[in-house]
Amino acid sequence: MKQKKAYKYRMYPTQEQAHILARTFGCCRYAYNWALRARTDAFFQRGERLYYNQLAVLLTDLKKQEETAWLSEVSSVPLQQALRHLDTAFRNFFEGRAEYPTFHKKHGVQAATYAANAFRWDGHSLTLARMDAPLDIHWSRPLPKGCQPTSVTISKDGADRYFVSIPVEEDIKHLPEVNKQVGLDLGLKSMVITSDGHTYGNPQFAASDEKKLAKAQRRHAKKKKGSQNRRKAQLKVARIHAKIADRRRDYQQKLSTEIIRENQVVCVERLHVKNMVQNHTLAKAISDVGWSEFVRQLAYKAEWYGRTLIKIDKWYPSSKRCFDCGHMLDSLTLDIRSWTCPECGVQHDRDLNAARNILAVGLTASACGEMVRPGRAKARTGTSP
Ligand SMILES: [Zn+2]
Repeated sequence: MKQKKAYKYRMYPTQEQAHILARTFGCCRYAYNWALRARTDAFFQRGERLYYNQLAVLLTDLKKQEETAWLSEVSSVPLQQALRHLDTAFRNFFEGRAEYPTFHKKHGVQAATYAANAFRWDGHSLTLARMDAPLDIHWSRPLPKGCQPTSVTISKDGADRYFVSIPVEEDIKHLPEVNKQVGLDLGLKSMVITSDGHTYGNPQFAASDEKKLAKAQRRHAKKKKGSQNRRKAQLKVARIHAKIADRRRDYQQKLSTEIIRENQVVCVERLHVKNMVQNHTLAKAISDVGWSEFVRQLAYKAEWYGRTLIKIDKWYPSSKRCFDCGHMLDSLTLDIRSWTCPECGVQHDRDLNAARNILAVGLTASACGEMVRPGRAKARTGTSP
């Protein structure tokens, strides 16, 4: 079966290319935010829904207006793609998979997607519209032979690193079936606890970098606002953040692959990360762990390899229920790491007991036909994995 997969590479633009990209990122952000505003206003003021086709026409008008004529200085394709991304964001919102779209910010990751009519790919090199020379891409792994990219996304992160992401349709063979099922709980002491008693990762594994980060942040705060030195110090902070994020992503990739390979059925809890992050004692631990990203990886790998991922709703009492006898505690505060069941006397590790309950609920729910495997709607030109 053909599966969507994205290949992402570091790339090093020339000064001139960086300049063109900076303009393109800015115009894409403008188009996205302008369209978001237009759609929101249309709905609240007139009860109307605006879609890509109408917005694309309005965008063309916008380019003809004097004060926004600068939008024509970049390739029109990434701007249209920005409108498509907004369509996807709205579809995800209306179908209950995501929050209402928000404005893209000037600081943070910048991106522009080029559809096939806006780049040239000769099997070896990639040249974007309005550029004379191909991009200097660091091909850390080969693209699948004979692949013909239908779009490419260029991005720049907070540490000023450039990337090119190329979605590819690839034949990924399902793995042979295995007779193993597992429940996963998000831990605070460990990143993941499985129902068969394995623990993986440490949510605080950024701790060593944290010292470095704190030091860099202190330095940054001391520099004079607007000074060149402050800009440099800020970049240093961003680089440490980027390094931490890279390491976490690598680790999550390895772990999600391992869990999907070894198990036929994987049950996880659907977490409402936003609510949890409002709880500040938990906030840092949870953002360190990156649970939702991890679950996303499990979901697409399950699809690739022919496994089943079952997401159960969070209001099942996975922590408070004794796995052995079914007794339910009235409450179990987060600081309690282990407890003894007043009914049957079994001593429980909090997270392991939860993982076992998650597996039980997941298997029951799937047997009752409640199983859901929702995926996000994909942008038409794919920004998937
Ligand atoms: Zn019990």
